[in-house]
Amino acid sequence: MRDDSPGLFGSPPRPRVVPVLVPMPAPTAYSYAVPEGMAVEPGSIVQVPLGPRQVIGVVWDGPDAGSVDPKKLRAITKVFDCPPLDRNMRTFLDWVASYTLSPPGYVARMALRAPAAFDPEPMVEGFRFSGIEPEKLTPARRKVLDLAADGLSWTKSGLAHASGVSTSVIDGLVKQGVFETVFLPPPPLVARPDPEFAESRLAGPQKDAADEILEGVRAGGFSVALIDGVTGSGKTEVYFEAIAETLRQGKQVLILLPEIALTANFLERFQDRFGAKPGEWHSDLATKTREKVWRQCATGDIRVVAGARSALFLPFEDLGLIIVDEEHDPAFKQEDRVFYNARDMAVVRARISGFPVVLVSATPSVESQVNSQNGRYRRIHLPTRFAGAALPDLHLIDMRRHPPERGGFISPLLLKAVGKTVERQEQALLFLNRRGYAPLTLCRVCGHRFQCPQCSSWLVEHRFRGQIQCHQCGYAEPTPQACPECGTLDHLVACGPGVERIAEEVEKHFPDARTLVLSSDLGGVKRLRLELEAIANGEADIVIGTQLVAKGHNFPLMTLVGIVDADIGLANGDPRAAERTFQLLSQVTGRAGRTGRKSHGLLQTFQPMHPVMQAIVSGDAEAFYDREILERERAGLPPFGRLVSIIISADNRIDAETHARQLRQAAPSESGVAVLGPAEAPLALIRGRHRFRLLVHGRRNSDMQGFVRTMLANGPKERRSIQVQVDVDPQSFL
Ligand code: ADP
Ligand code: ZN
Repeated sequence: MRDDSPGLFGSPPRPRVVPVLVPMPAPTAYSYAVPEGMAVEPGSIVQVPLGPRQVIGVVWDGPDAGSVDPKKLRAITKVFDCPPLDRNMRTFLDWVASYTLSPPGYVARMALRAPAAFDPEPMVEGFRFSGIEPEKLTPARRKVLDLAADGLSWTKSGLAHASGVSTSVIDGLVKQGVFETVFLPPPPLVARPDPEFAESRLAGPQKDAADEILEGVRAGGFSVALIDGVTGSGKTEVYFEAIAETLRQGKQVLILLPEIALTANFLERFQDRFGAKPGEWHSDLATKTREKVWRQCATGDIRVVAGARSALFLPFEDLGLIIVDEEHDPAFKQEDRVFYNARDMAVVRARISGFPVVLVSATPSVESQVNSQNGRYRRIHLPTRFAGAALPDLHLIDMRRHPPERGGFISPLLLKAVGKTVERQEQALLFLNRRGYAPLTLCRVCGHRFQCPQCSSWLVEHRFRGQIQCHQCGYAEPTPQACPECGTLDHLVACGPGVERIAEEVEKHFPDARTLVLSSDLGGVKRLRLELEAIANGEADIVIGTQLVAKGHNFPLMTLVGIVDADIGLANGDPRAAERTFQLLSQVTGRAGRTGRKSHGLLQTFQPMHPVMQAIVSGDAEAFYDREILERERAGLPPFGRLVSIIISADNRIDAETHARQLRQAAPSESGVAVLGPAEAPLALIRGRHRFRLLVHGRRNSDMQGFVRTMLANGPKERRSIQVQVDVDPQSFL
């Protein structure tokens, strides 16, 4: 007799109708019937029919739709044999949906990004010594038997590898009945990290920092700590102790990193400390591996995951700590479909589940800085580099006084410094956050500018590839010989520099030096990892790179960092421009001198008196933050006020603008909340869509979500051609 027969033996009847979240932009879950004999609970991952398709969904919490007649509903087709999403995870997903004003089904889908992982992994074939001795004992067979004599099970390749013989030796033994076949659970993707594998090696202020963090970890419960320490001060070493302690408590750990695909160095360090690598999670993983990571997080086989922002939505069995390294990094913000900031949502996930979060940065975001000043976050400060390694000596180059030669972009002062560095057989890094050869190409005869046919952006010349490309949508065409406007041949000129052009200039001045260009468009992750390793091994003299080089790499020979255009980030109308520039430049110059050699940083600027430039060269970060915080407070900008950006796009300009105006008129009147716009977005056209922007500005305690929800509900009906994107706490103002 089944236990779901209603009322029998006093057990409550199982609901026959349940809400299921499906990957649809609907505001709530849909109701589905539960077929006879199927057991589901909130969190169960199921397959349901949706229109003509079968889709994956999650049984959700919600009122028992008792009044609905199950016979009128479509039924769940399948329940996966997979741990259900637990209550905390469901609360978290609901919270994210409501905070970001996203359909809950879309948010739930972020937790279900590994379709084939919902069924258990198949068992693998293994072999076990049967006790029968082989007829003839060759030396190779001897080795195998020595290993397997204890009767433990092995996979064929594992046994062959461990005993140093070919698999045919094992096949021979199987044939003779020396080994019997068994079925084994699939091996875990990564070994279990051991908190005692290597001894902690903290020194001086690192010890105090670790003690402070451990206090939070041992106390258990929700807390946020901010480790704020210069590059090379040992922040990683310190948070490794928090990880060790959490592992001792038997809980799982998530480390969020920007650009995880490029941090091979980090994985190795982790292995040195814990004897095993963490599970990795990022978009470059093979599908099979992703599925394993997802599954093994849920079953608890993986104890530590190092991942990009989307790892925040993995279904951990028992998560006990989240580390957000480089917490200020814009890469934590997703600006696609569900707009969320993984740093902020990590704090939410920890609060809901009741465990600590550790934010880490050499240049914390203004938001986190304010939270640590007012005592909401525990601030842990590491003011000096480990073992007395000095920070680079930083100077500005005033480009008005020391201009480059005609056609060039590098000042004679910087060239001289590069020359000296190369002579000493050390490395120089020239940083320019611009891919390609030149950001704009024009015809010298008629002035025609090459623009993307689908976006309001100029085409960027990539000379190494012989193409001009749009950096918005990826549109590319071969670099033309003649101007399409006036037909003149060979009169196209490149305006402004990109990394490829800087490389050309460097090669002209230093023909014998080994130069290397590092840019995300010049090869996949594998190639970039190899190149970063080559740099660390001293296989290049001059490295020219985009912001890829800024992140967490350790280049022992690098003693000079030159910033080609320090002003680049200050030009746009973004309220965070100063903060971002400060962070990026501090991070890039922090690449130099990590191993105790004397090092320099030179920043080329046309605005040497700008507070950002002054803060960087004086090393007075506090002064920079104080000023920036004061300005934000005065203007009521985050974290002292709140912003929601709404982008309205359509395939023609008038529709977009009209819709934006009507939406604005639908705004409720509420004191303290203002709607600015509509204004044409700075990127007015992307992929053929015209874009207008509304900016909702409120007070710190305003109900922004409620306001925007009302606005959307009272606004014009959404039409097929019109798209409305809501971005709560926007990072980008383009
Ligand atoms: P951060 O994360 O602040 O940039 P790291 O933790 O990467 O700093 O430390 C910088 C360098 O100093 C690394 O190469 C690290 O191995 C080394 N280091 C830091 N602390 C110690 C320590 N206590 N003992 C030995 N090496 C250390
Ligand atoms: Zn384009």
